[in-house]
Amino acid sequence: MTDTAGTGALPVEGVPAARVLDEIRALRAADRPTHGGRLFAYVYDPGVAGLDELAQAAHAESAHVNGLDPTAFPSLLAMENAVVGAAARLLGGGPGTSAPDVVGSVTSGGTESLILAVKAARDARPDLAEPRIVVPVSGHAAFAKAAHYLRVALDPVPVDPGTLRPAAADVAAAIRPETVLVVASAPSYAHGVVDPVAEIAAVAAAAGVRCHVDACFGGWTLPWLRRLGAPVPPFDFAVPGVTSISVDLHKYAYAPKGVSVLLHRDPGLRSPQFFAYADWPGYTMVNPVIASTRSGGPIAAAYATLRHLGEDGYLRLAALTRDAVAGLAGAVRAVDGLRLLAEPESTVVCFTSDDPGLDLFVLVDELTARGWHTQPQLAYADLPASVHLTVTAAVAPRVAEFGPALAEAVAAARAAGPVVLPPELLALAGSLTPESLTPDLIAGLAAGLGLGAGPADRMAAVNTLLDAAPVRLRERLLVEFVGLLQRPAW
Ligand SMILES: *Cc1c(COP(=O)(O)O)cnc(C)c1O
Repeated sequence: MTDTAGTGALPVEGVPAARVLDEIRALRAADRPTHGGRLFAYVYDPGVAGLDELAQAAHAESAHVNGLDPTAFPSLLAMENAVVGAAARLLGGGPGTSAPDVVGSVTSGGTESLILAVKAARDARPDLAEPRIVVPVSGHAAFAKAAHYLRVALDPVPVDPGTLRPAAADVAAAIRPETVLVVASAPSYAHGVVDPVAEIAAVAAAAGVRCHVDACFGGWTLPWLRRLGAPVPPFDFAVPGVTSISVDLHKYAYAPKGVSVLLHRDPGLRSPQFFAYADWPGYTMVNPVIASTRSGGPIAAAYATLRHLGEDGYLRLAALTRDAVAGLAGAVRAVDGLRLLAEPESTVVCFTSDDPGLDLFVLVDELTARGWHTQPQLAYADLPASVHLTVTAAVAPRVAEFGPALAEAVAAARAAGPVVLPPELLALAGSLTPESLTPDLIAGLAAGLGLGAGPADRMAAVNTLLDAAPVRLRERLLVEFVGLLQRPAW
């Protein structure tokens, strides 16, 4: 690496291409492994030889194409329409179905799809001064973000701690005259369980309210799992009352990052999603999605990925994933003290610990130390802390190694014992309110927890502190901690 690599000091003489790539590779060495089936969050790896190269080449073909104006770059419009058509067909729409008029847009990700679903619902009701949305607490945090960005009130619906699902009756009770949208997940990210979509859509329809199915996670797996014989309940446009569906192609369609699809049952439902502006002296602007200038790269890469894998490819990958889920769940069941929080019904394995001597956050660190990267989830309301595993096809060849590694990590976590935070840290945390946090306090906490001092391999203390904090304080701490990390590299 050159001495200015990874800093904001722009080299006076440009660095040769090969050296720049070396710099990036050197930086990448500290990252979690994106391939190889040992990272159970953030990445979706099919383990298909040649697929990355194809997606990269397709991305490069279209990287400089701008989706700002579909008439200037018809290639992008054609690929977007093809990708949306594929998603619509997979999710119960298109010719010959009960939803023949489905339309959609490609967005940059699940969050953008959800923000736009909320925007379309809000702007379809300009008569309401204070619009509201009804979202089960198991719904993705992006709905809260959408509500926050769009100044829409959020009415949470509890989930049954046994089934981890909301009851349609509770959804119905939460609907008010100002409600513009009701949400169901297929499945929820945290636990991988599918909400009772048909019942929820029915109560929404009875109230004359839109119903969005968040299938960001499962929209590209549940249909294939069903074809393979899994008992997947109805969740798509075949369900009357479902007005929109989101599905992330950068998850289980295995496209590179930056592509999700938001579908609406008909063009009228979609139209308030768009933004057009002609009241300025520049070009006439119409944006279907949040971004204005949009790279063609992610769309072309998704198009190539879909066409290359095809139905047979996705069915094969879904079968591998299903078997991997069963194997991992079996490994969890085989360990004393661990308990599946939900029986897997999609592509998530989520477990908790009933043994006070087995600290889940320590277990997560022990798994990390052994090269297995799982995702800790904090306790919430009636739900205990848990460990989340997003399972993809690339995990299949690793399943046999996971059981012994898990058993070993559990033994190590038991031997280490639960996290004991330094008393001065606990005292500090106990007296904190979101309002009382000062930059000095934050810096002290971060230093005490060893945050930012190296790779995030020992996070149990941080997670324990966050777990002990009330929700609003958790949020404030997260903001401040990441604010400390995001500082310019001079
Ligand atoms: C991943 C996910 C989202 C958010 O998607 P991003 O692409 O991370 O913005 C929303 N809902 C569900 C169910 C998800 O799994």
